[in-house]
Amino acid sequence: MPVLSVRHLKKYFPVTQGVLLRQKGWVYAVDDVSFDVNQGETLGIVGESGCGKTTLGRCIIGLYTPTHGQVLVHGNDVSSLDRAQKKALSLKIQMIFQDPFESLDSRQTIEQILKEKYVIHKKAGRGIKEEMTGLLGRVGLAEDSFAKFPHEFSGGQRQRIGIARAISLNPDIIVCDEPVSALDVSVQSKILNLLLELQQELGLTYVFISHDLSVVKHISDRIVVMYLGKVVEMGPASEVYGAPRHPYTLALLSAVPIPDPEETRERITLQGEIPSVEHPPAGCRFHTRCRYVQKICKTTEPQLADCGTGTGHVNACHFDGRLREAGGA
Ligand code: SF4
Repeated sequence: MPVLSVRHLKKYFPVTQGVLLRQKGWVYAVDDVSFDVNQGETLGIVGESGCGKTTLGRCIIGLYTPTHGQVLVHGNDVSSLDRAQKKALSLKIQMIFQDPFESLDSRQTIEQILKEKYVIHKKAGRGIKEEMTGLLGRVGLAEDSFAKFPHEFSGGQRQRIGIARAISLNPDIIVCDEPVSALDVSVQSKILNLLLELQQELGLTYVFISHDLSVVKHISDRIVVMYLGKVVEMGPASEVYGAPRHPYTLALLSAVPIPDPEETRERITLQGEIPSVEHPPAGCRFHTRCRYVQKICKTTEPQLADCGTGTGHVNACHFDGRLREAGGA
């Protein structure tokens, strides 16, 4: 059984106007998203800003209530649990936030920050100090960090504190929301390696959200590509990177730098703005920017279909790369 399942998840936010806050529409932030994540796996979620990936992460962690659909943790539908069950479940699923400075209370010492979760979940018994010391060591911080405040640390060290807090109560799943995008490139790889080490050591399952495809490639087993609230491609990382099917994935990948100076790749520049999630285009949501667009794309929405590789690689395009191979429309 998967550790985490997302089933037909939708999250719509009302758009209001005037002093009476009359509702005039919806923002379709996440629109019918489904996937499973297995024990010890890392599922990367990529897409441009505004594609719904952070909203999806917040629905998974319970910060947002889905408009429709289910989040199942170990097969239990989170929405059907009572308050006590939800609190118990919240131990099993944690989040690492993008901005380590914003997510840590600047008025609290590191000891207070780490202790807070133990207190909330009534686990602050004897031996807690030793446990917290062990946590600091695990994320590469010295014991004298306890008495310091967040501003006394570098960005990378603050993210280490965020990671220590996330793993403090032995979760099964961690949703990592752009955990390295606010850090220097030299620090990013150290934090990614720390996450990989902890995953091996503790058997953690990650949902890793990022706009940076090279970062996601480094850490993910499988990848979900999102565009305007929809999944457009999903599959093993090696296939999504090595043989992308969807024109949007292809365009995103074309912008990733290649380490080999001998190798060249066509850079695909996406034309036009991302359409509004309040008024998504009819048919294929990507059709206003797709270089292979055909008549059917403007009226009929393509569904995710198996690519036939036998690996669960799916793609939502009427032509599944056939127009591309034929040299374009
Ligand atoms: Fe492009 Fe049409 Fe495929 Fe959408 S369905 S990605 S518009 S070719």
